Amino acid sequence: MDRIVIIGGGASGIVASIFAKRKHNQVIVLERNSAPLKKILMTGNGRCNYLNECYHEDFYTSEDSDLISSILRSEHIQSVKDFFERLGVVPKIKNGYYYPFSSQAVTIKNVLLNEAKRLGVEIHLSSLVTNIEKNGSHFLVTCEDEEIQCDKVIMATGSSAYPKTGSDGMGYSFLKQFHFSLIEPLPGLVPLFAKKKYPKWDGVRSDVAIELFEDGEFMAREEGEIQCTSYGVSGICIFNLSNRISRGLSLGKKEEIHIHFAPFIQTLITPWMNDYAKKCPHKTLEELLGGFLNEKLASVLIEESNLSPTDFYLELSNEQKLRLCKNIRSFSLEIVGTKGFDSSQICIGGVRLKDLDVHTMESKKVKGLYVVGELLDMNGQCGGYNLTTCWISGMLAGSSCGGKDD
Ligand SMILES: Cc1cc2nc3c(=O)[nH]c(=O)nc-3n(C[C@H](O)[C@H](O)[C@H](O)COP(=O)(O)OP(=O)(O)OC[C@H]3O[C@@H](n4cnc5c(N)ncnc54)[C@H](O)[C@@H]3O)c2cc1C
Repeated sequence: MDRIVIIGGGASGIVASIFAKRKHNQVIVLERNSAPLKKILMTGNGRCNYLNECYHEDFYTSEDSDLISSILRSEHIQSVKDFFERLGVVPKIKNGYYYPFSSQAVTIKNVLLNEAKRLGVEIHLSSLVTNIEKNGSHFLVTCEDEEIQCDKVIMATGSSAYPKTGSDGMGYSFLKQFHFSLIEPLPGLVPLFAKKKYPKWDGVRSDVAIELFEDGEFMAREEGEIQCTSYGVSGICIFNLSNRISRGLSLGKKEEIHIHFAPFIQTLITPWMNDYAKKCPHKTLEELLGGFLNEKLASVLIEESNLSPTDFYLELSNEQKLRLCKNIRSFSLEIVGTKGFDSSQICIGGVRLKDLDVHTMESKKVKGLYVVGELLDMNGQCGGYNLTTCWISGMLAGSSCGGKDD
């Protein structure tokens, strides 16, 4: 029987603890908060989107993207589904997104903690780990009020995202001590700051299509809801683009998004607008755009096109019509920053997959040290993909790190 210490009682740490305990090890989870799984309660707007029906490497970014498929293997995903089913979670599947049928993230928290407790995992709360050393084949883990010698360590401290839940980036410092080369952690799945601000559109939600251009080159396209804010933009499709934008900005690239505010218009927009205006020639621009756009948004687009709300579309010059149509079809917004770790759902970057044995999550250089969860440079889009990384990596590390099968 090995003594295994898991640093961090979040999603990946608790799952690792369950799998390690099932192998008859002594398992101790050290968690700095007074309760484990704090972040889980916030996921999926309190409902926890814990899995997805559809998996593909393209839903992730990583410096070692060729290794993602080894983690995302279909048998691993099936094992995660079986794991939650056996813990008694009944899923509610919406557009492929898995939530617990209760629509409460606390369901996921409770089933994980109940299983860890049933198996006899020791969870030490309010235990901030301050140092980890390796002496020969053993590790010495130091907390504020205890020191534990152990055979294996699983690092599950999370990233720097949402630090009020306990993940403040400490894990990266420990890993640097062990000479891991980290991909710079940056905020991911995060709202974005625009260069030009539009306070008038604050609070507007709109279904849009967005194209991302990096240094003028087309990079990606997303469809979904955007939330316009006084500082810039937010919403799921912005989050999904933000992982790439965050990295691009850190490399000094120019990041620009083009927003199609009326994606239901499948044809060229100028003839469509002409036809639409002809149907109601007595309507002012404000009234006309108000027929399909949020009124605050319509006002911003009219103003940005140097037009007046009381103008009539059919009386505009060709140049004015083009300007307005371009703003509806392809509103250009330069992005100059992210809202930072405090507002980011994940960190992009972290421990390189190539530095680990991706079948066990053990470090190739430091034997007995495992890395799981968001510490990894495996950055998912919205849709349950980041928790999936936590479940799979926790499961792999826990079941590989010693002990024997039932
Ligand atoms: C608002 C929000 C919504 C989200 N929604 C979703 C979603 O619906 N679906 C999805 O897939 N993903 C979602 N995510 C992302 C997902 O929650 C994370 O990727 C995941 O929880 C990370 O798990 P983890 O175990 O790696 O780290 P964490 O959950 O951050 O856990 C790390 C733990 O380690 C502890 N710790 C850190 N340092 C120390 C130390 N030195 N000593 C002791 N303990 C320490 C921390 O207190 C923390 O409890 C969301 C994230 C946020 C912030």
